Amino acid sequence: MFSSYLYQGGAMSKQSDNRMDGPDIVVIGAGIIGITAAIELLSRGARVTVMDRTGVAAGASQGNAGAFAFSDASPLASPGIIRKAPKWLFDPLGPLSIPLPYAVRIAPWMYRFWRASRADQVARGTEALTALMRVSRDHLENFMERTGTRHMLHHHGNLQLYEDKAAFKAVLPLWQRRAEHGVDYTALESVDAIKEAQAGIHPRFSRAILTPAWLGISDPKDYTMALGRYFEGAGGRIEISGVKALEVAGDRVSLLRDDGMRREADHIVVAAGAWSHYLARTLGDHIPLETERGYNTTLPIGAFDLKRQLSFEEHGFIVSPLTTGIRVGGAVELGGLKLPPNYSRADAMLRKAKMFLPKLKIANGRQWMGFRPSLPDSVPVIGPATQSSRVTYAFGHGHLGLTQSAGTAKLVAQHVMGETPEVDLFPYRAQRF
Ligand SMILES: Cc1cc2nc3c(=O)[nH]c(=O)nc-3n(C[C@H](O)[C@H](O)[C@H](O)COP(=O)(O)OP(=O)(O)OC[C@H]3O[C@@H](n4cnc5c(N)ncnc54)[C@H](O)[C@@H]3O)c2cc1C
Repeated sequence: MFSSYLYQGGAMSKQSDNRMDGPDIVVIGAGIIGITAAIELLSRGARVTVMDRTGVAAGASQGNAGAFAFSDASPLASPGIIRKAPKWLFDPLGPLSIPLPYAVRIAPWMYRFWRASRADQVARGTEALTALMRVSRDHLENFMERTGTRHMLHHHGNLQLYEDKAAFKAVLPLWQRRAEHGVDYTALESVDAIKEAQAGIHPRFSRAILTPAWLGISDPKDYTMALGRYFEGAGGRIEISGVKALEVAGDRVSLLRDDGMRREADHIVVAAGAWSHYLARTLGDHIPLETERGYNTTLPIGAFDLKRQLSFEEHGFIVSPLTTGIRVGGAVELGGLKLPPNYSRADAMLRKAKMFLPKLKIANGRQWMGFRPSLPDSVPVIGPATQSSRVTYAFGHGHLGLTQSAGTAKLVAQHVMGETPEVDLFPYRAQRF
């Protein structure tokens, strides 16, 4: 079964194109990261099973804002955020909140986040994210072409809006730095210029950054589901099973399902989003993965004549044009995986959106909360477990998992199958914590 693959320092090198001979790989998690990685592995001749406790697109990949934000290659932890955070925290429904019952639990992560905001760390993080963004952007359209999902990609651009001229001025050097990495943007400095880019925005917003190359997906759930169907059609297997532990015995790896059954595999990929650290811990890797909970409301189609995605940066939310409706949301709630959702956050963002887009029809919206899988330095973990090179981690994409999915999938597949990854995986290693 596995004889046609040689292990070289943990990586596999392909000897045959016969899929029946390919290695038996289990990917845990059927979110956008797991499914895209599974497709890339399948296309290299592996036999791939995706296991998910609930099903395809059950987690954060279901309800996100649908943006391929390739220009967003800076870690969240930055001196600017550290300065703004205390002010935000005083507003219980503001862009950032920490529910009291979780304040002590999140403290170590916050400390790491603060440390990650040092200039040298930010520079390292930006480099790692820029490389991942580049490989993701370079492969996205080809990946979509291959999987028959190209029609779901929209080139609508993004408008980042500012009412405070000082805040706008403060962000310009960042955009200039991004331009040096090839990001195309235009600074709009009048209400009329903004109106031309998108009508119906309250004139209190007189400054904006237009990024025309910003891409969006028609609907993130539809996209992930379509990829799931493609994967099954191409010979992959999706199994509804929870996994509670990973085990290494000599040269073998196995997983223990929630129902107590053990399953061996040639290789296991952990792509379980905000739950991944539980599995990593069973192999002795303690990774400071937390969740930044986000909220949104999806309004019916026609709620607003929206030409492009709008980002209200100072208010921490986004308005996205999806084929399934207008999605208003964002915010960060550092509240862990177990506290019940507080939908007054979604209400607060919707009220603000109505103020900023007076013609927005806010009736009949559908509310949602999702768990962003977040690491303190915003750099996802992509690479082998410490105890076994037969286990590969792929999680912690935070605010940008959809954006970084095509690149992550490519790097995971190259690493697992013994090819040289297009980008050196060192900056993404689990052992950096
Ligand atoms: C409000 C909001 C807006 C966002 N907007 C954007 C955006 O515009 N652009 C962007 O790029 N990103 C965005 N994101 C981030 C993006 O959604 C995530 O980074 C991405 O979906 C993470 O994908 P994932 O596959 O790692 O995790 P998930 O989609 O959460 O998938 C993980 C899967 O693993 C399964 N699982 C977990 N534990 C186990 C287990 N033990 N056994 C079996 N299965 C298990 C779960 O059931 C789940 O299906 C947003 C997130 C939120 C919350």
